[in-house]
Amino acid sequence: MKTIIEPFRIKSVEPIRMTTRAEREQCIEQAHYNLFNLHADDVLIDLLTDSGTSSMSARQWGGVMEGNEAYAGSPSFYRFEKAVKDLMPFKYLVPTHQGRAAENILFTVVLKEGACVPNNTHFDTTRANVEAQGAEAIDLVIPEGLDPDSEHPFKGNMDIGALEQFIEQHGVQNIPMCMITVTNNSGGGQPVSMENIRATRAVCDRYGIPLFIDACRFAENAWFIKTREPGYADKSVREIVQEMFSYADGCTMSAKKDALVNMGGWLAMNNEDWAVECRNRLILTEGFATYGGLSGRDLEAIAIGLDEVVDEDYLRYRIASTAYVAEHLAAEGVPTMRPAGGHAVYIDARRFAPHIPPLQYPGQSLAVELYKHGGIRGCEIGTAMFGLRPDGTEVAANLDLVRLAIPRRTYTQSQMDYVVEVVHEVFDQRADLRGMKFTRQPRALRHFTGHFDYVD
Ligand SMILES: *Cc1c(COP(=O)(O)O)cnc(C)c1O
Repeated sequence: MKTIIEPFRIKSVEPIRMTTRAEREQCIEQAHYNLFNLHADDVLIDLLTDSGTSSMSARQWGGVMEGNEAYAGSPSFYRFEKAVKDLMPFKYLVPTHQGRAAENILFTVVLKEGACVPNNTHFDTTRANVEAQGAEAIDLVIPEGLDPDSEHPFKGNMDIGALEQFIEQHGVQNIPMCMITVTNNSGGGQPVSMENIRATRAVCDRYGIPLFIDACRFAENAWFIKTREPGYADKSVREIVQEMFSYADGCTMSAKKDALVNMGGWLAMNNEDWAVECRNRLILTEGFATYGGLSGRDLEAIAIGLDEVVDEDYLRYRIASTAYVAEHLAAEGVPTMRPAGGHAVYIDARRFAPHIPPLQYPGQSLAVELYKHGGIRGCEIGTAMFGLRPDGTEVAANLDLVRLAIPRRTYTQSQMDYVVEVVHEVFDQRADLRGMKFTRQPRALRHFTGHFDYVD
């Protein structure tokens, strides 16, 4: 059978309020053409992020009822701990309310001013938390990872030669840890191969540098290893995940991604001294060691989510559903980043609307039009997000993209067919897209709260 179906049926539904183009034009104007300012119930298909937007299963909702809310020693914590350690067998586990809290605790303990952390690509909160310690976040993804047309099967890989060179140049004493992000979020969820994780480990071993995995999309990464890397086709996803983490000394995790819940995260490691300090920090900022920033019911839902996310029928459907959108867009000539990643499809807005110069934000213009035309909310990742420099001048970002991130188990194939149709229709009328400008922009993170309008 060619068709890969959703391996679940729907038991509980959340209505979508249908809107007309005229209503949406009014909504987006009132939102100053910033999609972050929209009310979510004015959106038909919300592809802003895959973070915290998963649908939980009936089993997880059942687990919510079983959650035990004891302050210390909750059985829900021990079920959570067992589920995590079955996949990621680190000695010490610290639950947090989300991924960035895990990052903040880890970096507060491990990094000093002037330290450097290499990573294939830091996610934005990871970079911000490294920099908050006065340390430097270095991205060392392979060159193919920066080329939107490269069909390399593991575009998230660390550039091993560049990593060695970086360590030689900056000195081991300035590099307290190395990280590798699976999948590489910033490139649309491009995977990292097992061979590359192993090679990164070997470099770290040679210099005595601990390796941490930013694990947010570990299951999607494992599926790519299983289906693309020689030697892994017959291994179970669970075995592949266990092997991935066997090369690391610890991990940070946002449970809002591959733990199939709406809130949660953790930090795990083998180093006892660090773990003791992290727990002290946890108690100061998040909560006691057996709940962190979470309720017992959240821990219960994570434990079940971790069992469901490594299910092969789920992962086959998940990765196929992202590729489905990418392939159908490409079939009509819509320029996208190749190949499709795990959790998102990126439209190359600069090539979609070449008549709009980068400093007039072609990505923002396209994202606004997708909303007006079909009620779809994507996210500009380009010059509006990255173009403003600290000295107030502006440059074009490397790429002007619109990201369509796909929530897990949330939308059906017909809803994705609708998304494809909307993009195709906007593509047919792409000559009508107009450049935009900021009418109000804060000095930092202007894409979140800035106001836009059309140029003239
Ligand atoms: C989402 C994410 C984080 C941060 O997690 P939050 O739960 O949003 O704080 C860190 N790294 C990566 C790769 C992510 O995708």
